Amino acid sequence: MSTQQPFIYREPAPILDKENPFESMMQRFDVAAHLLNLEPGVYEYLKTPVRQIIVSIPIAMDNGEVKVFEGFRVIHNDILGPSKGGIRYAPDVSLDEMKALAAWMTWKCAIMNIPFGGAKGGVRCDPSRLSPLQLEKITRRYTSNLIDTFGPDRDVPAPDMNTNEQIMAWVMDTYSMHMRKTEPAVVTGKPLLLGGSLGRREATGRGCMISALSAMEKLGMKPKDTTVVVQGFGNVGSITAQLLREQGCRIIGVGDVSGAFYNKKGIDIEKALEWVRTNRTLAGFPGAEAIDQDALLELECDVLVPAAKEDQITHRNAGKIKAKIIVEGANGPTTAKADPILQEKGILVVPDILANAGGVTVSYFEWVQDRVGYFWSLDRVNSRLERMMKEAFHSVFVTADKYKVSLRIGAYILAIDKVARTLKLRGIYA
Ligand code: NAD
Repeated sequence: MSTQQPFIYREPAPILDKENPFESMMQRFDVAAHLLNLEPGVYEYLKTPVRQIIVSIPIAMDNGEVKVFEGFRVIHNDILGPSKGGIRYAPDVSLDEMKALAAWMTWKCAIMNIPFGGAKGGVRCDPSRLSPLQLEKITRRYTSNLIDTFGPDRDVPAPDMNTNEQIMAWVMDTYSMHMRKTEPAVVTGKPLLLGGSLGRREATGRGCMISALSAMEKLGMKPKDTTVVVQGFGNVGSITAQLLREQGCRIIGVGDVSGAFYNKKGIDIEKALEWVRTNRTLAGFPGAEAIDQDALLELECDVLVPAAKEDQITHRNAGKIKAKIIVEGANGPTTAKADPILQEKGILVVPDILANAGGVTVSYFEWVQDRVGYFWSLDRVNSRLERMMKEAFHSVFVTADKYKVSLRIGAYILAIDKVARTLKLRGIYA
């Protein structure tokens, strides 16, 4: 390997704003690989998923008609340990999306110092049009099709978009039935009763809150003087808002798929959560003024948390963002074309692979607890999460400073370097 020439960096091809997620990931990967002088063979190795599986999932619908769904599982890399990554159910699930998300999981686990590789899976379906019975059948058939892929020492799924604790319970049960023994560690994000971890549900939002506080500290900002806007009011967004509020920040804007809301005096997050529990979305929330969805991201504020979906900050709106800090709760909320605009404006972006890594960290804790058969208190989960998030933030910050790059590229450098060095030590088996 060592006789090869260093990887040659080429300017990325121009890309559209609705980016191919894999190419978007690769653009950042290429910059980091160039700065690391990655050898071409190692570059090729790290960009290529080790396994890409497509399965067909035939289901007898409630009226007896047979429908066939397509399912995916991509193992990007398993050199650091068993691969880890969520399963999402959505109509636009594609292999390219799975490849990008699986690679992000590899980098996330490497940054967090978790002994896991990266994977992602999904089923192309519209869960809002499926009955609970159909969802169960899809989940069980998907799991049994992947029975040789999954396993506590091989590949460990978790929830992602439109999948939840119940779906993880069905994955665990199906796997356990095939293995003829109960195997809780095959999946994380399970209900507590089945070996789930305390604090898992709040973990991603808690990690975002810790990342936001770490970034604020770097800029000398005090929580009580800090205004925050959060896009997305689901698991990640609502918990980040709630925890930042508890730290003393003023949450002046929130939004979800139904609309955006602004109150310069501060939004009562408990009331907004109560409203969503009753009405499913923020639509009609009386505690703030309704504003345009686009205007939410462009509000005058100190910290912006995009925690809804990908491709929200693009080259079209990046120039209008006024926040000093962006904490990426969602995966891929900023397009590669928006990155240099934000950097030019001096906005400190805490990248997704660091900011939202609290979820996979507590998933790791869940896996550890399941394997040992001893369960931790919430205090222990939260204090270990806080320590690991702060350590990861520090390492990314130091790396970015050393290479004089953004935190995003710093995070990629840190992760790629760790995986590449592990590969060197292990060598290539042939
Ligand atoms: P969720 O389904 O609980 O919430 C998503 C929120 O975004 C909802 O409030 C929804 O109304 C809102 N939303 C959807 N489309 C929108 C739009 N066009 N404009 C404004 N708001 C919109 O999902 P989640 O688990 O909170 O995940 C959100 C993001 O965080 C995703 O990118 C996910 O991949 C990422 N993420 C989640 C976790 C986790 O543990 N849940 C971990 C890491 C990353």
